[in-house]
Amino acid sequence: MTAPHSIPFIDLAAQQVRIRSAIDQAIGKVLDHGGYIMGPEVRSFEQALGTFCGAKHALGCANGTDALMLALMALGVGPGDAVFVPSFTFAATAEVVPLVGATPVFVDSDERTFNIDPASLERSIVEARLLGLRTRAVIPVDLFGLPADLLRIEALAHREGIDVICDSAQGFGGSIDGRMTGTFGRITTTSFFPAKPLGCYGDGGAVFTEDDEIARILESLRVHGKGADKYDNVRVGLNSRLDTLQAAILSVKLDVYEGEIDARNAIATRYSERLSNIADVPHVPAGYRSIWAQYTIKLNSKAERDVVQKLLDTAGVPTQVYYAAPLHQQTLYAAYPKDPAGLAVAERHASRVLSLPMHPYLLAETQEWIIDQVYDAIECARA
Ligand SMILES: *Cc1c(COP(=O)(O)O)cnc(C)c1O
Repeated sequence: MTAPHSIPFIDLAAQQVRIRSAIDQAIGKVLDHGGYIMGPEVRSFEQALGTFCGAKHALGCANGTDALMLALMALGVGPGDAVFVPSFTFAATAEVVPLVGATPVFVDSDERTFNIDPASLERSIVEARLLGLRTRAVIPVDLFGLPADLLRIEALAHREGIDVICDSAQGFGGSIDGRMTGTFGRITTTSFFPAKPLGCYGDGGAVFTEDDEIARILESLRVHGKGADKYDNVRVGLNSRLDTLQAAILSVKLDVYEGEIDARNAIATRYSERLSNIADVPHVPAGYRSIWAQYTIKLNSKAERDVVQKLLDTAGVPTQVYYAAPLHQQTLYAAYPKDPAGLAVAERHASRVLSLPMHPYLLAETQEWIIDQVYDAIECARA
């Protein structure tokens, strides 16, 4: 059987059909009032965002990378400081560290969750201190939508006197025992890049904190380090505001987001039920809610993964490899410190992962067809 129709990896068009008239209305309102920069939609979206996750302060910014940059700047991280980051993540998590003059230290991942491994973090902290670095912060990532081991990381960080910045670019809306991402660590960051679970129609991001003083600094930093008076700058900042138009679009999308997360979970459950006896399916620890930014299986080897991906491509099933190379093996980052015990798990993940089509509008019959193709491809690759 051939593909029922062209299957997108993430179907933003299907979502748009559902919300198009509300989006048009929201955009029309902004065009009417003309407050393109920091218009009223920005504040009202920030309030809704804070309410959604339970964070005291939610502030929009230009994108998820700036959000991380703003977080490091707000905490005064700079030269001589070590910032611990997982190696198995998107480059932006680590990129911001040298941007502020600090040193990224690469940490291994957990075998089952893909997220930062606390034991590896402890070894990396010892290593950074041996190298004479000041251990300042750790950036756990909620990879593929699953919250990192945030309670353990928070406890460990507290004991070691380092700050936690949660990179929830893929995890906003996830939770641990009912506590939502956005409320862990000193600062949480997220991204509204179109393909993220809560995406806008361009670039956008946000920072969250419970701390009034940090919130005040973040607000200043995103507008050129402004003081109480806009034309009295008190610190070096960025131009990193969330556009009013994007805030208007995001408000509409936030209204349907909770239901979309439920739909993603139903789809993930169906994948796991059907695929668990043939592939290594994602593990969700008890009490955790993932938002399934990606649904990622693991094959037995790189050779097998590459064959399966090729066969699926031929069959008309789009897949992605996130991420084909861990950061500590990339040209720019190879020279930075890392867990002295090595990063074998991150390396193994990179060679075995394969992400399948995942979005809240994936129809059951399309998904069943995809699952059949995955079965066929894996069986063929192993034959
Ligand atoms: C997407 C992403 C970012 C960066 O977000 P942008 O809005 O694209 O700048 C940072 N960290 C992770 C883990 C991401 O997936």
